[in-house]
Amino acid sequence: MRAEDTFKTWLDESQDIVFFGGAGVSTESNIPDFRSTDGLYHQQYDYPPETILSHSFYLRKPEEFYRFYRDKMLFPDAKPNRAHRALAKLEQEGKLKAVITQNIDGLHQAAGSREVLELHGSVLRNYCTRCGRSYSLADILATEGVPHCACGGMIKPDVVLYEEGLDMRLLERAIAYIRRADMLIVGGTSLVVYPAAGLIDYYRGNRLVLINKSPTARDGQADLVISGKLGEVLGDAVGV
Ligand code: NAD
Repeated sequence: MRAEDTFKTWLDESQDIVFFGGAGVSTESNIPDFRSTDGLYHQQYDYPPETILSHSFYLRKPEEFYRFYRDKMLFPDAKPNRAHRALAKLEQEGKLKAVITQNIDGLHQAAGSREVLELHGSVLRNYCTRCGRSYSLADILATEGVPHCACGGMIKPDVVLYEEGLDMRLLERAIAYIRRADMLIVGGTSLVVYPAAGLIDYYRGNRLVLINKSPTARDGQADLVISGKLGEVLGDAVGV
């Protein structure tokens, strides 16, 4: 049987599906990932992206941080693609219980997904680091340089920077979903950013499917590996 046919059969047979994804879910919405050859890590800046997107750099050089962030992390016009829509449909059908994502772009919710665990936060939420007041992405886009609150404090995007820890309660919820899943679909992630990448170790079933356009470090652990574009593989299988 072709891998795509096995995938479709497993989707039909499973009732408690969880999807765990990364930047590759949104490349078909024209948001670049980090590690593909045309991804962010292969472009030239004064500092490597890991450095710019770290907490200490954000504090030390907020102007540089925001220059990069506005230029490379904000895509207000991006629209959900077939992968996002397929996952939303599976949830509406009652088969998929949660999307766990490393993405910060909000596109799963824009496609209609409801149970979305954003491990790395979201560019749609921002807050004043002094008084805690919330700001939308539109508020940030209406400013230039380093955005400041009316109280004078610096506004920070609600995204997890390098050197920052993950929200432990969110991580525990993600683990609980994965533990009881009868099918775990992992897609569009190079599985190198921890602790998020370690999540798949909590899966106890025998339908671990990895969908990626390039090999990942965990291919050997999967019950099924599909090499291809997520929008096409998920879109064709679910019919969106
Ligand atoms: P990554 O860049 O390390 O890996 C992306 C993987 O997806 C690669 O293995 C690539 O081959 C694959 N891929 C790319 N397009 C694909 C497609 N159409 N179909 C199937 N596979 C595809 O990304 P990561 O593992 O998510 O980790 C990097 C970090 O980058 C995450 O922490 C995330 O927060 C952040 N990030 C988020 C966004 C976003 O929100 N859209 C974009 C870039 C980076």
